[in-house]
Amino acid sequence: MKQISNFGDQRMLDQCLYCGGTPETREHVPPRVFLDKPYPEQLPVVQACSNCNGDFSTHEEYLACLIGCVLAGSPVSEEIQRKKVAQILKERPSLAYRIENSRTDDNGAIVFAIEQDRVQKIVEKIARGHALFEVNELLGDPIAFFALPLTTFTAEQLNDFENIDHAVVDAWPEVGSRAMQRLLITDDTVHNGWIEVQRDRYRYSVSQRAGIEVRMVFSEYLACRVLWE
Ligand SMILES: [Zn+2]
Repeated sequence: MKQISNFGDQRMLDQCLYCGGTPETREHVPPRVFLDKPYPEQLPVVQACSNCNGDFSTHEEYLACLIGCVLAGSPVSEEIQRKKVAQILKERPSLAYRIENSRTDDNGAIVFAIEQDRVQKIVEKIARGHALFEVNELLGDPIAFFALPLTTFTAEQLNDFENIDHAVVDAWPEVGSRAMQRLLITDDTVHNGWIEVQRDRYRYSVSQRAGIEVRMVFSEYLACRVLWE
């Protein structure tokens, strides 16, 4: 990825993104648990206090492992495709057990019950990081949210989700923000409004067409959308 510097309001960047407290740690957006080695160079980074940073990490591991287990149809670490996820499940048997217990066999279809509040917490948090990084906006609670497998979408829903309407920009991004620069700089990690952080692992988009909207896809499986007014 190309690192694009942000010339936006520095005061906004000098605080914990999540609580406004003193920034003590730098956090990758997305967190690296969702990516494989070798990591893309120059991942987006935001500032966070160590409390907020630490709070989220177990939820992040949960979500990364859940996606890995769903894709494998199994919580058995040997069957998990991503090495990092297999490793976490091996080191944290309680997490593996918890995910195993959420699995049911519905007439031959393996279904994992999702801990929705944990997923929402993490997805919203990552979306807030993208919004700050791309368009210099510090955001509170969103007005709309979903996190659903891409496989559950109808053709029309998929089309809506995949097509980021950048042709109609009602409000230009703030001058100096990364989103503005992305309009000016050709970057081969950007395809049709989607920024591909790592192929098959993670992509996202930030749009300001109607409110601020962040869309994310984890492992080409979990599609998420977070919207702010
Ligand atoms: Zn904080």
